[in-house]
Amino acid sequence: MWWVAGGAAIALAGAAAIARQSLEQQRALFETDARIVHRLLSQQVVQHDAILATLALLQPAPDAPGSRSPEQRLPALYPRILSVQRSDATTPWPDPGLAEAERLSRQSGRAALAPLNLSGGRYRLVLASEPASYALTIDLQALVPWSEWPMAPQTSAVRVELVQAGQRHLVQPGRLQAGAGARFEFHKVVAAESQSFDVVATQTVGWRQWPWARMVAWVLAVAALLAALQHLQRQRLARRRAEELLRLGQVARLNTLGELAAGMAHELNQPLTAVLANTQAAQRLLDDDPPELSTARGAMAQASAQARRAAEVVGRLRRAVERPDSGAQRQAVDAVDAVRRALYLLEPECQRRGVVPMLDGTPALGVMADPVALDQIVHNLILNALQALEQVPATQRRLTLTARTVDGMGELAVADSGTGIAPEVLPRLFEPFFSTREGGLGLGLSLCETLASGMGGSLWAANAANGGAVFRLRLVLAGAGE
Ligand code: ADP
Repeated sequence: MWWVAGGAAIALAGAAAIARQSLEQQRALFETDARIVHRLLSQQVVQHDAILATLALLQPAPDAPGSRSPEQRLPALYPRILSVQRSDATTPWPDPGLAEAERLSRQSGRAALAPLNLSGGRYRLVLASEPASYALTIDLQALVPWSEWPMAPQTSAVRVELVQAGQRHLVQPGRLQAGAGARFEFHKVVAAESQSFDVVATQTVGWRQWPWARMVAWVLAVAALLAALQHLQRQRLARRRAEELLRLGQVARLNTLGELAAGMAHELNQPLTAVLANTQAAQRLLDDDPPELSTARGAMAQASAQARRAAEVVGRLRRAVERPDSGAQRQAVDAVDAVRRALYLLEPECQRRGVVPMLDGTPALGVMADPVALDQIVHNLILNALQALEQVPATQRRLTLTARTVDGMGELAVADSGTGIAPEVLPRLFEPFFSTREGGLGLGLSLCETLASGMGGSLWAANAANGGAVFRLRLVLAGAGE
């Protein structure tokens, strides 16, 4: 994942920057301390030149009994000066080192160091002058002005040494780390030409001194930030998905509404057509001379029955919309009666096609059903059968309606001798909007099935053994313990 790699890169780069910044800070502190140390030591050693110059200038007399010469008082004033020695024509130096230093001093015109033995913690400085030359023995450890020292000598991590001609004197031990992550060094010769000691300061920063806490905190902060970002991203995706689902849901609802409207149009079309046909027929019969009153009355009765049916369809649809979950209002009805009603209504359609419907099975079949829904289903099934029969020659058209009891259910079968249902059509028959008829809405059967299952029944289709299609509606028998 790109954000894991990116996050790791940011975390590592940040941790490295923290480490570098911390090292820079430690280096700056080290350099400051080392410069202070160098300045303090320079100030100390340069005083030795001044002391020797003063002694040479004053040329104090050798020890006189009862009085103390300035050179004897010096160690009291400067604790680091262990002793002052003097040599003149009558008093030679006690050791050749001092004589050699005096020679060098005379050559250079300034104080000179006697051969060193820094491991002894002291050194000697000689200034040649007339009539007497002077030598100071200086204690290196006492040379260090601890009161002004910028570090805690026992605990500081910085090692300080004085180096001269390959010899070293350790001023402050420091704590040098093995396996160090970084090493700082400072070299500078003290500002006194006569005592050219190199001030060497060293500090190492071990892995343990790295700013781990801050580095880990940074990495954790980056990880937390990434986790928060990822969480936000997930939330955004989830919200988008929810919005999409909502949109689909709305589309689905719109589809259902469209389906409902189309279904209503479909269901109302038939009775309204019948109303129109019957009233037109009645009009014609009344216009006859003499008017055929009884036939006209019959046509008007049919028209009003169809109009009532249309009103019932509207009412049922309204109930379904208002209380979609209430399902069908079931009651005990005679399914054969429903078939008769439908056949009565569709009589003109049958006549037009030359179809003589046959009623088979029991003369009455009590089932639990919503009477209007049952009428709707039977009407649709018979109309579909009539439409299918149009595909075959008039002589072969047969329509059989059978009512019987099967497996403890009331079954109504509508069988026709039409072309039957193609195998590829059969599984899609009850899909809304599936139609093979030109101008067909494909809603009739889907509505029928919905109505049937709403009443606790079922509807399915098959091809009959002797050709044609058979639709079976099964409903709960009236008085079957419901
Ligand atoms: P529509 O009649 O508006 O096309 P239906 O839901 O009533 O819609 O029927 C869907 C399809 O089922 C029809 O187009 C037709 O192909 C098929 N069908 C329905 N009844 C029969 C039948 N009795 N015989 C053969 N096919 C039928």
